Amino acid sequence: MHQTTRKILDFFYPNVCPRCGIILHPEETVCDACAEKMLLSQNDYCQKCGKTNCMCQYRKLAYDRAVVACRYDKESAPAVLALKESKNTNFAYFTARILAERLRHGSYYQVQETDYVMPVPMHKAKQKQRGYNQAGLIARELAELLHLPYREDVLYKEKSAAEQHTLTSAQERAKNVGSFGIREVSLENMRIILCDDVLTTGSTMNRCAELLKFKGAAFVTAAAASSTSPPEQKETTKHKEESLL
Ligand SMILES: [Zn+2]
Repeated sequence: MHQTTRKILDFFYPNVCPRCGIILHPEETVCDACAEKMLLSQNDYCQKCGKTNCMCQYRKLAYDRAVVACRYDKESAPAVLALKESKNTNFAYFTARILAERLRHGSYYQVQETDYVMPVPMHKAKQKQRGYNQAGLIARELAELLHLPYREDVLYKEKSAAEQHTLTSAQERAKNVGSFGIREVSLENMRIILCDDVLTTGSTMNRCAELLKFKGAAFVTAAAASSTSPPEQKETTKHKEESLL
């Protein structure tokens, strides 16, 4: 977000930590204590699928690498929820900074050679109702930080499908993501960074990456503000479900 806009907003709405509610300095997004609780170390997730429990051996993914900022668990849920409910969008700016930093030091190619930063789309009606697409906030901020072009007119969501998080099985989630579409564009040999707020099974990112590849994209990075780690005891069944996708 533009600094001036930010300052004006801070005047009317005090800048508070989206997780604990403590008052922050205008330039801060999350307090240090909460940042520490939410951050996911780069060694703790798979650089290809973005999961803390790597699913690469069970699925062939359409995206080429994943960059993740935070874990999605009970520690970070209040901040993610505040972003979704338009209460506090700081989590988007906080995670965009982390993602930018991790992408600058990425090993696949120089991040400046990225063609576009795009969000996972939200259905138009829903975006109008909420006022913004939270994935778009993250993607736009990331594009600004990395000085890369931002585009949200390529991918679209056809209809309001059931909310991903309300669906319990990986199979249901996979079916539900079928409603994404892509406009008539050429993405021949392009490198794209695709952003979302939460990476759960990876089905949404995967479907969008498939569409981008279908239009010629050469490399797709899945950049997620947060990534879920399923409870340990469910690992086995979870993997079985994933392998069916
Ligand atoms: Zn805090």
